[in-house]
Amino acid sequence: MDNEIRYEQHVRRVLRTPLLVLQPLMLAMWPLTLWCNPLIGSPYKGRYFALMLLLLAISALLSVARSARMMSLTFTGNIWAFALAFRIQIQDGGAVGHYWNLPVALIIILGTCGLTYRLSHYLITLAGAGFILFIGQDRLIPSAMPEQLVGLLVSVALAIGIAYNHANSQWMRRTFRLKERYRILAETDELTRIANRRKLLQQLDAARGESGREARHFVMLDIDNFKEINDRHGHQVGDEVLVATARELDRLDPRLEGGRLGGEEFGLLIRGLDEARISHLLETLRERLAEAAPLGIRFSAGALRLAPELSLNELLRRADEGLYQAKRQGKDQVVWPR
Ligand code: GH3
Ligand code: MG
Ligand code: MG
Repeated sequence: MDNEIRYEQHVRRVLRTPLLVLQPLMLAMWPLTLWCNPLIGSPYKGRYFALMLLLLAISALLSVARSARMMSLTFTGNIWAFALAFRIQIQDGGAVGHYWNLPVALIIILGTCGLTYRLSHYLITLAGAGFILFIGQDRLIPSAMPEQLVGLLVSVALAIGIAYNHANSQWMRRTFRLKERYRILAETDELTRIANRRKLLQQLDAARGESGREARHFVMLDIDNFKEINDRHGHQVGDEVLVATARELDRLDPRLEGGRLGGEEFGLLIRGLDEARISHLLETLRERLAEAAPLGIRFSAGALRLAPELSLNELLRRADEGLYQAKRQGKDQVVWPR
């Protein structure tokens, strides 16, 4: 999976909970401000209900957003709807409605900085909200309020918002990189650098449950007389044989996912090929490994098609059965257990 897609998923996981907590707060704040605002007369006006419905609809969209991008877009939409709701309330407040401008602007600047994971996203959200709130207003601040003080307050809030947004984005990137490093460590076989048992069994289990008509096969493969290689040529050469085997598996076919099950045993998950083509592929592997450096390598294997009714354990047991039959029949061959 692409690294950027993984990063987006990480961001979604980090931001989802705070965003979902913020939703009811925003939804409760809007009607409360209507009830507390003496300037607007009745809080039961059709347009207020319409705005409440808009806020509810965007919140519902946010709670079902599947990707970080979709979540960010709906969050921006939510903030803009919030700005629109206050703009209408400010307008309905008449001559002194603009008293609301500064607190609403400060809440938006400081409230959104930690919930947008890119500076550009933060600034676009703010610019849109500012536009909706202020454009066309006759007055932005009460006349008794010194302009310099308001300018200073807004500038400081913006500086805090930008710094926090930057720090938050950096922190999310750093935790993602760390998480990725540990994930790769946890899924990679240290000696051969291909997938380890944990990863391979995960892939196998996932492939088992996949719907779709594409054939999926599993091959369990074991190097023949490996102990002898170790005994004759030393452990170091044995290791080199394992690395060479993994290298050949890795370059055999892009539809194949290979991993080391343990010791000199490997597993292959193959998608979209039938039995004949897999046999051909394993024959190619046999030829390549027979000529591989540092020593010619021979292997035996058990191969079978995945079926939804076969559990992971049953699948491994049957592949193992095929493998041991191949060993009993004289090694250097592939058996398809029936
Ligand atoms: P068969 O043909 O029946 O498979 O026999 P074999 O000798 O290949 O299998 P056996 O199970 O008797 O021996 C496997 C050996 O693999 C024993 C173990 O010391 C060795 N081994 C396991 N892991 C490693 C490793 O990481 N490096 C090296 N060099 N040897 C390993
Ligand atoms: Mg062996
Ligand atoms: Mg073995």
